[in-house]
Order: sequence, then C-alpha cells, then structure tokens
Amino acid sequence: MDAKRIVNEKEIEGILADTGSPSKRDIENVLKKAGQKKGLSLQDVSILLNADRKYESRMFRTAGKIKRDIYGERLVLFAPLYVSSHCVNDCEYCGFRRSNRKRRKRLSLEEVREQTRILEAMGHKRLLLEFGEHPELNDIDYVVDVIRTIYNTKSGRGEIRRVNVNIAATTTENYRKLKEAGIGTYQLFQETYHRKSFESLHNGPKADYERQLFAHDRAFRGGIDDLGLGVLFGLYDYRFEVLALVSHAHYLDRKYGVGPHTFSVPRWQPADGVAWKEPPHPVSENELLRIIAILRMAVPYTGMIISTRERPEIRKKAFEIGISQTSAASRTSPGGYGKKQGVSQFSIHDERSVDEVVRDVLRQGLLPSFCTACYRKGRTGQAFMDLAKPGEIHNLCRPNAILTFKEYLEDYASPETRRLGEEIIKKYLSMIEDPSARKETRIRLERIENGERDIYF
Ligand code: SF4
Ligand code: SF4
Repeated sequence: MDAKRIVNEKEIEGILADTGSPSKRDIENVLKKAGQKKGLSLQDVSILLNADRKYESRMFRTAGKIKRDIYGERLVLFAPLYVSSHCVNDCEYCGFRRSNRKRRKRLSLEEVREQTRILEAMGHKRLLLEFGEHPELNDIDYVVDVIRTIYNTKSGRGEIRRVNVNIAATTTENYRKLKEAGIGTYQLFQETYHRKSFESLHNGPKADYERQLFAHDRAFRGGIDDLGLGVLFGLYDYRFEVLALVSHAHYLDRKYGVGPHTFSVPRWQPADGVAWKEPPHPVSENELLRIIAILRMAVPYTGMIISTRERPEIRKKAFEIGISQTSAASRTSPGGYGKKQGVSQFSIHDERSVDEVVRDVLRQGLLPSFCTACYRKGRTGQAFMDLAKPGEIHNLCRPNAILTFKEYLEDYASPETRRLGEEIIKKYLSMIEDPSARKETRIRLERIENGERDIYF
C-alpha cells in the first residue's frame, strides 16, 4: 500500500508554500465556499491556515453556523475508560510508555464492572475505552470480554449503551471481533502524519508508520464503518497535520463513500514519566480554536471531539465553533474512577463533575445529549453519512438529545441543573420543526416522566 494515497507529504508542503500569504480575495472566497457546507479542498484549507489573525472571528462565525446547521445545538457527552496501562511501545510523549517504570494496571473484569457502575451513577451512557498495546495482556479476547462486561453491567437505571474503542492498530480479523462485540466507533489517531517525526517519536510495533496509517482501511474491511481519526497536536507543525488529516478524510470518503465519523483534536499535555516540558511544536489555545474552526469548515459532516485536556473556558469556545462531542469528569488512569490510582496517560485541565459540565453547557444555551441512537438503529457508515452530509441529522439529534437529557435530569441531576435543564428542553422541544415529531417527542417525554427509559428515534 502506498502511503501517498492518504498523505502526500510533498504535495502538502507544496500547497502550504504556495498559499503562504493569501490575499483578502482568496480568503473571502474560501469563507464563502465554506458557508455552502460542501467541504473544502486542501488548497482552501491551506489558505485558511495561512490567513492573518484578523480573519479569525469570521472563521469562527462561519464554522459556528455550519455546526449549528448540521448538528444543531446538541453536545454529546461521554467518558473515557482507561482499561490497561500496560504497553510495549515507548512513545516519547505518553505516560504509558514502556520506559516509564511507574506501576501499571490492567483492570480485572470485576474492576471493569466497578468502574462501569461508577460511570453509570454519573449519568454516562457512552464510553470510550483506552488500552495500551500489549499482545499478551491486552489481547483481542480480553478487549472483547471488557466490552461485553460493560454492556452487561447495569445498575439501577444506569447502563452503557455505546462503547467506542481505541486500541492499537491491529488485523482485519481482530477488527471483525470488535465489530461482533458491538463497538460503536473505532478511534485511532495517527498522532503525527509527518513520517520522519512519527518514526523518531515511536519505538516498538507502533513505529511502523504504514501499520498505523492503513489501520482504518483494515477496520473498514473488518466491518467497522464508524471510524475516528485524530492528531496529537504538538508533535509537528499543526498546519501540516491539519492538511494531512483532511487528506485522510478525503481518502476514506473517496475510497469507501464513508468519511470519518469523528475527528479528535487533542493537544499534548504533560505526563508523569515524560521528560518534555513542552512538545516539539507547541500549539497555543488560540491556534487550537482555529484548527477546530477550519476542520469544521473543511469536513462539515464529521463529528468533532474535545477532551478534558483543555480548560473549561477553551472548551466552551470550542463548543460554539465546531465541537459536537465532549468528555466530562474524565480520569486518565485505569481504576481512576475508584480509589486505586495508577500512572496516568496525561494530565487534564477540566476536573468538573458531569453535573457541573452539564450546567455550564446549559448556561451556554446548548443542549447536553446522552444519545446513542444511530448505531443502535443501524445508522452507521453510509446510512449515517446519507443524513449527515445533507445536514439532516439534526432532525434526529434534537429529539434524541431531549429524550436522553430528560433521563439525565430525572435520574442524576442536581436541583439547579434540573431547573435549568427543564427550561432548555422546553425551548428546543418547541423548535422541533416537524409537528408530528414534536408531538411524538412530547409523548415520549411523558413516558420518561412515568419511569420508562431508553426511548429513541
Ligand atoms: Fe502505548 Fe499508546 Fe502510550 Fe504509545 S501512546 S506508549 S502506544 S499507550
Ligand atoms: Fe449522534 Fe445520531 Fe444521536 Fe445525533 S441522533 S446524537 S448523530 S447518535
């Protein structure tokens, strides 16, 4: 397989150089094109990456409108669950690196149950599982057992309805096993698309650039059609990384007719056992916001995720300009939700509880969502894209957000959150355009008040 089909480094460098100082007219034209919500070419993206800072507020406004038009006001919440910190790789930037001599932890299935119950008691319905790469300790059968255990762990009204997974690049056969276990999205970040940086920062099986780059192709062949891409910002020039990420998205869309389900935009953060004070190519908070806005304009249909690596103030701004999913109340070590703390993968900058995050999202006028409807209704891959690309998915996101958020208010919310939440539900219920969908949502809200759960469109 030729990596150039996904990322052509020479081409990207050429585009960046050619669009080095874009004219006002070029920038205006790209912003106008972005407003049509059909996506952008690599040249267009590069023009925005190279544009003067004075255009940022226009970029943010355009991106914010695209986000609202396609996804509406909902913000989906999830939690990461770190399952095992054992890893055979020695990635320079990661707290789980092999050379870090700190104690490691791999959750037993009983511990997985405990962690799941804690997360359910917070109101979470979606998890993202994280495993280091370890062929013996974190083999595919263990991963599958963990997924099944989570789906089977229900406490009171709590249950996990969608398990997304982040495991090291693996074989088509193993991806098929993940699919059979009922995973939602398979997420794998390239970390850096710049080959030289990739090869110098990695040591171990992950140092194979092609293995990482073509993992999504193998996952697709294994039957997984909701795929998440990402970059760890800070490892290389962010302009190159954004173009490469968009190029990867174009490749998947061209080849399979299904673009990425999500982009993740983590910035490197310090971790125990990592010598760096700063990453090789630091990305400022403002640059991160610009990255989010540009990705939203470049690939409008793709969901975008921000984690608790970022401060609440930055997360808030990011929700307005492109982010559609966020983690809340995260812990980044196996067993982190209970009392047993082990080594963490990285440090976080938002330590608020789910209830506190939800309250701030409400004060921002957005609608928190615990929805997991699409994959349970079979709306994955092409079926999802058929709704997301023309911007129709919000017709489902809004009622589903209202119903799942209502469950949260009934079962987990503090009195103040409940008061604010009921107002937001009222507001967005009245904005459901189709009268019959509005009526049906109202009926289902009453059913939830009467004790029914897990009702979705
Ligand atoms: Fe292991 Fe992943 Fe950390 Fe690399 S980034 S050391 S593969 S857990
Ligand atoms: Fe996500 Fe589909 Fe639910 Fe919208 S309706 S929040 S796209 S699962």
